[in-house]
Amino acid sequence: MDLRSKLPWVGTTIFTQMSQLALEQQAINLSQGFPDFPAPEALLQQLNQQVLAGKNQYAPMAGVLELRQQIARLTERCYGRMVNADTEVTITSGATEALFVAIQAVVRPGDEVLVFDPAYDSYQPAVELAGGKTVHIQLTAPDYRIDWPAVHRRVSDQTKLIIVNSPHNPTGMVFSQQDWQALAELVQQHGLFCISDEVYEHMVFDGAPQLSAHQQAALQERSFVVSSFGKTFHVTGWKLGYCVAPPALTTEFRKIHQYVTFSSFTPAQYAIASILETSPELVTGLAGFYQQKRDRFAALLSQSQFKLLPCAGTYFQLADYSAISDLDDLEFCRSLATDVGVAAIPLSVFSRQEQDSKIIRFCFAKQDATLQQAAERLCRLSR
Ligand code: PMP
Ligand code: GLN
Repeated sequence: MDLRSKLPWVGTTIFTQMSQLALEQQAINLSQGFPDFPAPEALLQQLNQQVLAGKNQYAPMAGVLELRQQIARLTERCYGRMVNADTEVTITSGATEALFVAIQAVVRPGDEVLVFDPAYDSYQPAVELAGGKTVHIQLTAPDYRIDWPAVHRRVSDQTKLIIVNSPHNPTGMVFSQQDWQALAELVQQHGLFCISDEVYEHMVFDGAPQLSAHQQAALQERSFVVSSFGKTFHVTGWKLGYCVAPPALTTEFRKIHQYVTFSSFTPAQYAIASILETSPELVTGLAGFYQQKRDRFAALLSQSQFKLLPCAGTYFQLADYSAISDLDDLEFCRSLATDVGVAAIPLSVFSRQEQDSKIIRFCFAKQDATLQQAAERLCRLSR
């Protein structure tokens, strides 16, 4: 057999590795990003009802219309942007599928794609499968802010696409109004496409405004804005997400989406459409809900030797452990899971240059009792 890998450098993702280690070691799993508490009861009831009502055959290729209409309403409510549910909204099997499809839609062999490290792990493989090349721009602790003039200098004749992620996994950095404007200028000036990964859009803390690519005219025209119901409704296993893009981009997006999955899990689409209609507070209350968890976790760790980095959004908290250990971050995470009973994610795996900065990521989307128990273990650590 002559099977040359198209992704020779890719192995098992760190999320799979660490969740598996947590399971083996019976460690408290603060690694992979998913809640350990149930989704809203009304949503679970809805799913049940939709299944029993027979909503079990293929959904339309673009997604159930009721859900696309709810997404259009949500986009207008949150960002004041009017989008057409027929021509600009597509339901996907998680944000992961939307990101993959959007990348395939625009990237051709030889194209360059700007990504910011630390970066979510699915961007680079998708770019490479399209024949493109990722150009990595490293962001640095503690704030991980973007130096936009430096980004302009990394644009070449081959640059086709920029991928941004705000609120940002894993750092918790959130774009300011100036960041969005700078991105819009960059995209317009160089004629780039943009993928805006906004899966944590409803988790912005401390009263900061919830900002989006949706609000910039120059970005609306050239962007695929991606989000995930897995994050918003605590159902990561449902793998339901969506992409909002102008009609010309959506047409190309759907050409690929229809051959990747054709359509996504039908009953969940009806269930989420219904809950968006009846319980908008589940979305509007999310920031407050997770801000409390962030603050609780930080308070619990205040007596520990970990130094917490700023977290303006998402459900991830970065922590510097240099006062505890000299191990590199991957080794430290292995020993944390094995010897201490808490699983976390090493930060270095999110960057191509894999520098060890003695920082790890905890997911605080957990029950208070889980956070408490994890913190008790973490507070015992010292040199
Ligand atoms: N983008 C980012 C930044 C993420 O953190 C995740 C998942 N945690 C995704 C995309 C993928 O979302 P989904 O689970 O809906 O595929
Ligand atoms: N997005 C999740 C995280 O950052 C993981 C998703 C996955 O396992 N692929 O933890």
